[in-house]
Amino acid sequence: MKIHLKNGQYVWNPLKTISVGMFLLCLGGAAFAAVSFLEPGTVADAPVSVQKATPTRGTAAVPTPAPTATLPKKKKEDYALTLVNTDHPMQEEPQELVAICDRFCDAPCTLKSDEMRANAQAVDALGEMLRAAQRDGVQDFTVQSAYRGAEYQAQLFDAQVNKLMEQGMSSDRAQREAATTVALPGCSEHETGLAFDLLAQGVNDLWAFEGTPQEQWLNAHCWEYGFILRFPRDKEQSTGIACKPWHFRYVGKSAAREMHESGQCLEKYLAD
Ligand SMILES: [Zn+2]
Repeated sequence: MKIHLKNGQYVWNPLKTISVGMFLLCLGGAAFAAVSFLEPGTVADAPVSVQKATPTRGTAAVPTPAPTATLPKKKKEDYALTLVNTDHPMQEEPQELVAICDRFCDAPCTLKSDEMRANAQAVDALGEMLRAAQRDGVQDFTVQSAYRGAEYQAQLFDAQVNKLMEQGMSSDRAQREAATTVALPGCSEHETGLAFDLLAQGVNDLWAFEGTPQEQWLNAHCWEYGFILRFPRDKEQSTGIACKPWHFRYVGKSAAREMHESGQCLEKYLAD
């Protein structure tokens, strides 16, 4: 459909101006109604997210977190404060990826794989944190996951969707549900190299980590070493992600201290 708005003629004709305006209003309303019908919950609930970068799968089915299209306002130049979530897919290449085992062979932890990589600053901070825990008598940590590329993230997401479908969920519902626990490809902050999943040795189930001495020590002290518990239970509404007691994110010491003092999650901190 072609609408020639630039011919200038209707500007001088009030009746024509009104009729063109009403036509455009009707057209806009019809388009909005059509999109709302096709993508319930996306347009109607979060109009500012319409122009966001679109995740690669399940767009219509995945719940949209609180609108964050204007984030982040602060410290865009600081890579450690990179925001990656459903509304902010990874936009750049991960910086300074290094092999964790090359960086701190002496740290008191087990690496799930010697191939694991992460951002150099984050790796150094992780080593400092785990050595401090050891001095406090808390050790036997396992680094379960660090940097993950989008392709691997896609495999994790698909595996979670399949698992839920095997439990009897429809495809749409399984994708919605999966997105609350496994980030969409492009939307996981593991793709930044700044996040780690930490467990205790002998704990193979992620949820069994909660309540261990290792988890309690990290919760109390991680901010001192530049880390935050990225998805706390009381911030689920802001992050759009279910609580993950094992997922720690490096943000730098000053930001971690400020978030610890204010009680803000990363989304709120960056919006301030
Ligand atoms: Zn994680």
